[in-house]
Amino acid sequence: MLRKHKKLSLLSLGLLSSISLAVQAAPAAQTHVIVAPQCLVDKLADNYTTLSSSESLTLIETNPAGIDALITAKNQRSAIPCGGFMDVTDAWNEYHPKGLTESNRAQSFLNGYTHPKKHLLNKSSNNYSIKYQNQVNQLLKTINPQDIWTDLTHFSDTSKGQFPDRYAGSDNGVKAAQWLKTKIEDMAKANNRTDVTTWTVATGTQYKQPSVVVKIGNSNEPGVVIGGHMDTLNSSWELKPGADDDGSGSMTVMEVARTLISSGMNFKKPIYIIWYSAEEMGLVGSSYVVKDFKNKNIPVDAVLQLDMTGYANQNDPTIWLITDNVNKDLTAYLKTLVNTYVKVPVSETRCGYACSDHASWDKAGFTASFPFEAKFGNDDPYIHTAQDTMEVLSQSHMADFAKLGTAFAVELAEPTA
Ligand SMILES: [Zn+2]
Repeated sequence: MLRKHKKLSLLSLGLLSSISLAVQAAPAAQTHVIVAPQCLVDKLADNYTTLSSSESLTLIETNPAGIDALITAKNQRSAIPCGGFMDVTDAWNEYHPKGLTESNRAQSFLNGYTHPKKHLLNKSSNNYSIKYQNQVNQLLKTINPQDIWTDLTHFSDTSKGQFPDRYAGSDNGVKAAQWLKTKIEDMAKANNRTDVTTWTVATGTQYKQPSVVVKIGNSNEPGVVIGGHMDTLNSSWELKPGADDDGSGSMTVMEVARTLISSGMNFKKPIYIIWYSAEEMGLVGSSYVVKDFKNKNIPVDAVLQLDMTGYANQNDPTIWLITDNVNKDLTAYLKTLVNTYVKVPVSETRCGYACSDHASWDKAGFTASFPFEAKFGNDDPYIHTAQDTMEVLSQSHMADFAKLGTAFAVELAEPTA
């Protein structure tokens, strides 16, 4: 399995470099600026330039072949988890503080990632206690594992050519975004909810698939965000069903949305359901979503990321809480929510750096958390391949994450009646 994956990655690397040769006339579109842990950069060949490095992170400039190599490196399993990377090209291009030399500019920019500012947006909000047990339990009864399974069957279906991939740079990816948005709009209509609004956030100029944002409720109080990423890698070499990564999280999020929208319940705070684009390409979609929230001054109290909820290693029902790029208090609260409402074992695991879209929120100073399907390294071995199908996934594991997401939404958004 792993050997096969390696071969395919080498193949794709070769093809990508020939593509970049062919489009050399447009150098601007080819340059990517990346923040990554040094251990990941160490696994690259020499197709990059270091702009700056700190004790833990490195800022590099690379090309599409370098991005592909980073994706391959991120997927390699090692005893000490290394982590992922962030494509910060646009943020870097916009970063021109006065009076800095070019090398100081790189150092100062990287410092924003090594020591992100925590602007404590939610200082006033919450003491993270259990307050709405009746309401949560009422909604948990309506969670239907079969719904998640049926939705995921459609979302990861490559056989009828529905979604051969959900790649952020492809028309298939755009279709996946439209499918999610329409599904929510139909759901709101069927439940006579006039307080459900949807919008899309463009993923810069490089990727055509937008992220999809849903707001439940009319209030403008600091909100609760629950999201996953809809995109997969490109299917040019093999199909990309992306059933676990991140079809599972995406359809778990859909089940939370369905539970909330059909509940008839109203909340003091709005709940934002988000499907991010281009997570696989370096958390690109979520960086634009966070920027959109900041530009519109939309306050956010708490963020939950669901990326891979379907693979229960050796049928272990444990929910694992990622400990990096997250808020400690909110992560401790997830533990309380699991113990109170989901009633499965809960444990902690480290992924390294920027393993999913929670890191985009965390970097911008928001309070984020990330529960995961397995101990990091024991997660689904088939992701990023044509074998990332539903065959190895567990309906009940996904339903447990839907329970956690629903409890998170209700307790933090506070039902009004
Ligand atoms: Zn993922």
